[in-house]
Amino acid sequence: MNNNEKAIPTAELVMAPLGGVGEIGMNCTLYGHGLPDDYSWIMVDLGLTFASPREPGIEVILPDIRFAENQGKNLKAIILTHAHEDHYGAIPDLWESLNVPIYATAFTAAMLRAKLEREGIEDSVPIIEMEIGSAYEIGPFTVEVVQMAHSIPEPVGLAIKTQSGTLFHTGDWKLDPDPISGPPTDENRLKALGQEGVDVLVCDSTNATREGTSISEIDVAKTLKALVGQAKRRVVVTTFASNVARIKSIAEAAYAADRYVVLAGRALMRVVGIAKETGYIPEDYTFLSDEDFQHLPAKDCLVMATGSQGEGRAAIARIAEGSHPKIKLSKDDTVIFSSRTIPGNEKSVGYVINLLAAQDLNIITESQAPVHVTGHPRRGELEQLYNWLQPNTLIPVHGEELHLQSHKAFAKQQGIEHVALVRNGSMASVLPFEPQIIDEIPAGRLYRDGYFILEDDRAVRNRRKLSTVGCLSVSLVINNQGKIIGEPLWHEEGLPFDEEGAELDDLVTTAINSVFKSVPPKHRKELAKLKEALRRSVRGSIYDAWGKKALVNIHLHQV
Ligand SMILES: [Zn+2]
Ligand SMILES: [Zn+2]
Repeated sequence: MNNNEKAIPTAELVMAPLGGVGEIGMNCTLYGHGLPDDYSWIMVDLGLTFASPREPGIEVILPDIRFAENQGKNLKAIILTHAHEDHYGAIPDLWESLNVPIYATAFTAAMLRAKLEREGIEDSVPIIEMEIGSAYEIGPFTVEVVQMAHSIPEPVGLAIKTQSGTLFHTGDWKLDPDPISGPPTDENRLKALGQEGVDVLVCDSTNATREGTSISEIDVAKTLKALVGQAKRRVVVTTFASNVARIKSIAEAAYAADRYVVLAGRALMRVVGIAKETGYIPEDYTFLSDEDFQHLPAKDCLVMATGSQGEGRAAIARIAEGSHPKIKLSKDDTVIFSSRTIPGNEKSVGYVINLLAAQDLNIITESQAPVHVTGHPRRGELEQLYNWLQPNTLIPVHGEELHLQSHKAFAKQQGIEHVALVRNGSMASVLPFEPQIIDEIPAGRLYRDGYFILEDDRAVRNRRKLSTVGCLSVSLVINNQGKIIGEPLWHEEGLPFDEEGAELDDLVTTAINSVFKSVPPKHRKELAKLKEALRRSVRGSIYDAWGKKALVNIHLHQV
């Protein structure tokens, strides 16, 4: 390139993930097009992550979208690939600060409206319904909506076409000849797109470590039908509430065995309502509420329950604990976990399963029978997609570090010319030239904590600390000569000393006295220093006795 050419700026396509890369959750990717530093943007997905036990008290975690907010009118739209929480769950909390139209297919839009209604903001958010197979002009982008298959109705891939070239964003997908809740991944359209030319593929990495291809949703339906058919007494099936195909298969298995279907859990009732409205579950499929449970003979009953991830307040956990107000199980009933345990939830799921097992119920999980199938592509399916689209560049997303690296290695082995990792908070120019990181932008996590959205995790870190070492507050009064007046008062939470407090009383008194002995009155003028000396001393004596460092607060008052 000579200097003359260098002087002419070229329009480019840039990509800036704000979440979803290096993690499974919180998907949010910005695509920009224009001259350097003058881009028009679209946002693909705006999802959340559920908090782990490492974030005590936090309901959900949201992406930090400051960078998108700062683009003002240059941000044109949010486009949703499907209605899973990790792709659309942050909209109620974050949409207002962006204030742009949301493009979604009919089912995703219906799920979104139901979500917004629960927050009372359904009228303020403009939703534009997209047709699968159609293309939309949004700023400098033409976005074509392509049918994929996944574990929810209407998962879509987006062919994002610009003057600089075409990028295909897969969303979550798999190949499945019969996904039940809609047509399979649109192989013909993908092949045609490949022929028209796809330059960059941004692709789901969730199962990139796994060889082969997955079984079909229809195989799961057959297994469920056989298991329900064989059962002599009640059957309870728990699954992901948004998995409409599975709900339909479970209901059909029940009807085939002359059983009534009882829905337990609000999320399931909501999804069934929306699936009927949008035509994914036939209108004449009948579902009873848990009120009807007590009238049903054991052999005529199938309960579909929420809580496949061991969520404490969901139906299956309450049934297992015997605290569900309507549903009680008894010996030789069958419980099927038609789900996979998401990494991190093993303990909660194990807890529920063991409670059920202790009641002499037949428990069937994915490890005993094919009662679940993944919604994400294994290597065999990735290879197919590469062959259809023939991209020059692959950018792995939707995966933890291991999945991204595995996807990268596999794509290279498959002969894809460029494989680039673009992590949360990086901005990469991806077209018309080879992908290259060009900037770092603010990105990170926001914590929804009650009515607050916290921008840092200071409170969460403190809570984590409190949960392991407890807290001791000591209050004492000194006069203007620096002498203690009265007795120090203290209050503890979570310390393992005797209940009456004699032991702690001794520790605190000795620690305070030793400070006053060693600091002469004239040096007690600087209250901050004195306070710190007291804190260290009290903490030290607790450590000597207990072997752990408690959180210690000193309240020092001078009169
Ligand atoms: Zn998904
Ligand atoms: Zn996802």
